Amino acid sequence: MGRENVDNWHVKKCSPACEVCQKEFQDRENLYSSLFFEGGEYLRKDVCESCWNKESAALSSWKTTFIVPPPPAEEAVKKENAESLLRKLLAKENDEDLNAVFILTVMLERKKLLVERDTQTSEDGRKLRIYEHKKTGETFMVIDPELKLAELEQVQDEVVVLLGGQPRNAVEEPESEEPAGEAQEPTDKDVNV
Ligand SMILES: [Zn+2]
Repeated sequence: MGRENVDNWHVKKCSPACEVCQKEFQDRENLYSSLFFEGGEYLRKDVCESCWNKESAALSSWKTTFIVPPPPAEEAVKKENAESLLRKLLAKENDEDLNAVFILTVMLERKKLLVERDTQTSEDGRKLRIYEHKKTGETFMVIDPELKLAELEQVQDEVVVLLGGQPRNAVEEPESEEPAGEAQEPTDKDVNV
């Protein structure tokens, strides 16, 4: 495998050719992708349908379709979106970004850009979710921080800010909604004029 495929361990591109017979994959050709753990790292191997062997010692395998990779994204300044932010954070490999990475992954899964293929337990006991990018065929390996519901909301707000939006509770203007079923206490502003 070429080193250019090893940007970071989280994102693994599809090989251009079958690992076994070396035949180049054609656009829309069915193939099988497998993940192996060898020499302390995760490796992805892609084989054509005729070379596929169900008995392989892979951690996970799935059938997929080869997609001719799209041309590289333009270098020009473009608006940050969930996908570009996810790639950026994954490349940094900071543990502090794990929560944001996971939220972005879930966002892209809802948009059907990523599809979950498997879950694994990493060597250090963390839950690893394995996704496939539907447009590029890349494998994304993301640690699931197993957030609690309350944490989830907070991280979602952080991600919205990273994407250039406003968190739900930071809006300065008065809320139009009436508080339900509870008389409002006079505020300081009303009392000390
Ligand atoms: Zn083959």
